[in-house]
Amino acid sequence: ASAQIGVTGLAVMGSNIARNFARNGYTVALHNRSIAKTDALLEAHGDDGEFVRTETISEFVGALEKPRRVLIMVKAGDATDAVIEELASAMEPGDIIIDGGNALYTDTIRREAAMKARGLNFVGAGISGGEEGALNGPAIMPGGPKESYESLGPMLEKIAAQVDGTPCCTHIGPDGSGHFVKMVHNGIEYADMQLIGEAYNLFRGALGFDAGQVADVFTEWNSGDLESYLVEITAEVLKQTDAKTGKPLVDVIVDAAEQKGTGRWTVKSALDLGIPVTGIAEAVFARALSGSRDQRKAAQGLASGTLADKPADAAQFTEDIRQALYASKIVAYAQGFDQIAAGSAEYDWDLHPGDMATIWRGGCIIRARFLNRIKEAYEQNPALPSLILAPYFREAIEHAIDSWRRVVSTATLLGIPVPAFASSLSYYDALRAERLPAALTQAQRDFFGAHTYERVDADGKFHTLWSGDRSEISA
Ligand code: NDP
Repeated sequence: ASAQIGVTGLAVMGSNIARNFARNGYTVALHNRSIAKTDALLEAHGDDGEFVRTETISEFVGALEKPRRVLIMVKAGDATDAVIEELASAMEPGDIIIDGGNALYTDTIRREAAMKARGLNFVGAGISGGEEGALNGPAIMPGGPKESYESLGPMLEKIAAQVDGTPCCTHIGPDGSGHFVKMVHNGIEYADMQLIGEAYNLFRGALGFDAGQVADVFTEWNSGDLESYLVEITAEVLKQTDAKTGKPLVDVIVDAAEQKGTGRWTVKSALDLGIPVTGIAEAVFARALSGSRDQRKAAQGLASGTLADKPADAAQFTEDIRQALYASKIVAYAQGFDQIAAGSAEYDWDLHPGDMATIWRGGCIIRARFLNRIKEAYEQNPALPSLILAPYFREAIEHAIDSWRRVVSTATLLGIPVPAFASSLSYYDALRAERLPAALTQAQRDFFGAHTYERVDADGKFHTLWSGDRSEISA
């Protein structure tokens, strides 16, 4: 037994993480259901470091030093359960099973409890960064028993991305918390991508830019507050020419976005927790709408109305879009962090939002300069009621607000959809409103269902006798 870590599931993600461990000096036991993948990895990259080739689970488990550490990188869902069961039967109390797949956090809670009952440590670890991150340094969000982090943490921190000397990996909290946080990360990623898409679409629709012109704008934005991996790759994508037609590649790609489910999971969880994640929800719905191809085709030619001229000052409108993107992004992150706080309270996880901001600065898909500001905001006030209220973000929105309104109103007048820009602005306006129409909602509920209401000037619950003499009683 000589391997410090074992990796089972050697598709793109697993093989790259195995190589990352090996390149960092660890001896890695390799296992895959079909042996061909194991051999392909050894053939192509065997000289990346020390690997131990194994064919069966018992051989694999036998190759590991104790306490054993096994990282599962197989297809999420039933395959993960099958592999966990096989491993658990071959492992001993005190050993550690890490699921690095995109598991639903409630599955992780269930699996962790089942493994604990058998004396095994189960670590649900969210891993972000795609295949490139897996190889060169991902962001890692491990949950599970704190004790297991003592032996596992240093290894994960070593293979993770590093920002200013700090690893993009930390112990998140108990059982499903790592996968929960990874899920919200993906939800924020959806919102971020949707906002970038809306900005892009405004350049095309309102300013008549071609893809190359928009690429130049994004390249420029990437040297300012918006600097991020997603803005950077957007510029790259928009510069790409299709070899077949000579057109910008983006113009020959079908405009129907797919999704694998983590955005939907985030919104479902937010609905259960009662947290408005409007930015993420609009992003999930926008992908769904784009994919309703028959319906969209049938709706071609519906009236648009034309109430506005295109913006006269392209430079001003470009800056307006930048500000609208930044402000909407603040809202989307604020909502995501609210969801993390609510999940933490619901499951007693004691999560520290500043930790997420710290580890998301590198390695992952949403890595951005912006995350430094979020980290600082939580350092200054760990109990921040909303990210929007942190002085830095409050001022940023104050600076952006007029631009934001101009963008949403211009888009609306031109008939260009901006669901995430618009709903983020409405969220902001609702959050800061002194009075909301919820008072009317409460009165209506009391009218038809005697659901009672509270008064602004007295404690307790009240009910109006709507079908009687309409006097008020204490409920
Ligand atoms: P896939 O999700 O495509 O899974 C393929 C791997 O799962 C193969 O090794 C396959 O083995 C194995 N597998 C499937 N079913 C079983 C089974 N019943 N028993 C044993 N092994 C099985 O691979 P990826 O590398 O794309 O992703 C791995 C995990 O990482 C997934 O959970 C994914 O959601 C997650 N992830 C992926 C990211 C990405 O960018 N791709 C980013 C972050 C996380 P075999 O070769 O024998 O078929």
